[in-house]
Amino acid sequence: MVMVKRWRWDQGRLTYFRFENIKKICEGLVELEGSNIGRDGDPFIREVLTSRTGLSFAPTTYTLWRNYARVFACALIATQLDGNLRVTDIGQRLAGVDSSEIDVDEYFSFWIPRFYLPSPAFQDYTPSDNRVFPLCAVLKYLFAQLLEHGEALIELSQVFSLIIGNNCNGCEPLEHYRALKMVERLPIGDEERQVREMLIFASQMSWLKWYSGALIIDLVRDDLQSIEDLLGFVEPLQNHRSPTQQQEILALGRVTAEIKEPFSLATREIPEDILFTEARKVRVTHLRTERSPQLRRLYFSRNPLPVCDMCTCDMRQRYPWTSNILEVHHLLPLSSAITITGAGTSIEDVVGLCPNCHRSVHVYYKQWFERNLVDDFSSKDEAKEVYQLAKEAIRL
Ligand SMILES: [Zn+2]
Ligand SMILES: [Zn+2]
Repeated sequence: MVMVKRWRWDQGRLTYFRFENIKKICEGLVELEGSNIGRDGDPFIREVLTSRTGLSFAPTTYTLWRNYARVFACALIATQLDGNLRVTDIGQRLAGVDSSEIDVDEYFSFWIPRFYLPSPAFQDYTPSDNRVFPLCAVLKYLFAQLLEHGEALIELSQVFSLIIGNNCNGCEPLEHYRALKMVERLPIGDEERQVREMLIFASQMSWLKWYSGALIIDLVRDDLQSIEDLLGFVEPLQNHRSPTQQQEILALGRVTAEIKEPFSLATREIPEDILFTEARKVRVTHLRTERSPQLRRLYFSRNPLPVCDMCTCDMRQRYPWTSNILEVHHLLPLSSAITITGAGTSIEDVVGLCPNCHRSVHVYYKQWFERNLVDDFSSKDEAKEVYQLAKEAIRL
């Protein structure tokens, strides 16, 4: 039986691992389903995926498949079988096949219990019994801390000294994670970067944030309905493993039942959301991002003045008895989770708005979508442009 010696991830691909890019990649892959991934099929694959996503898939000196198949496999969205491209069930869901669109939290609630090491995305896959579910382990540690202290974060170095160093595999009960002792365990080779990028990938969930070299759980106690809620989410899927890497990716990506959201996040829903949410799930992603207590804290620690970005009103002057009633508004397309970068959660795409301006800008968006017969902004630039239009249209 082989022990998992080190944690691995497909490093240097953060842009491709952004949730909205993963979705666009899936749309392209679904179109390419069954294509030959060999020498002849590849130019076509490149053409479809670059035009769908606007990403370069560099370097072009190699076939796209050679360099990016690991991204698809790590994300459990596609593989090849007998030389032909095969999209997994979850990849099809991400592409919105049969209008079965799933949001970022649903995707990760599916992915987390299924991603293990040694991963079938890499050459060191062995269908033995010994495996590690890295995100289950890290999240169990965070949940244990959250239940005990009301908040939780884990530094990258602690992932090594507490989780990897203690050979945690994600299958242990929550109590195990409460009592972990630090051991000396330094990263091997590129391992630090790989683990960091794996955590950043998962931090796209609405209730996780990557900030200043730490993974932060962005929940308050009221978000947790029950302990079963938590555990159901981080309990590894103990599937019977397939003999080959490719078959295993397809098996792991199989959707056998409805994908459940881990938590209802009651603290982030208010009845007025009806105005923005309507039928589209993407708006929920947006609202969850905006209601994130962590993002709010981060934004106001850098921008302490309660001045509305739209009407430029200083809230503390107008309402001297309040400290900061501004709300955070997210400038990315509504379907986007927070931007992930190597440095961490980006708050560049966030502005502080007074409640009136905030509500009105979303009304402006709604009317703009109706006029343009679309459901969402096609890019970050377009989202920012429309925000500017709304800002210029207000009468002061
Ligand atoms: Zn305002
Ligand atoms: Zn907003």
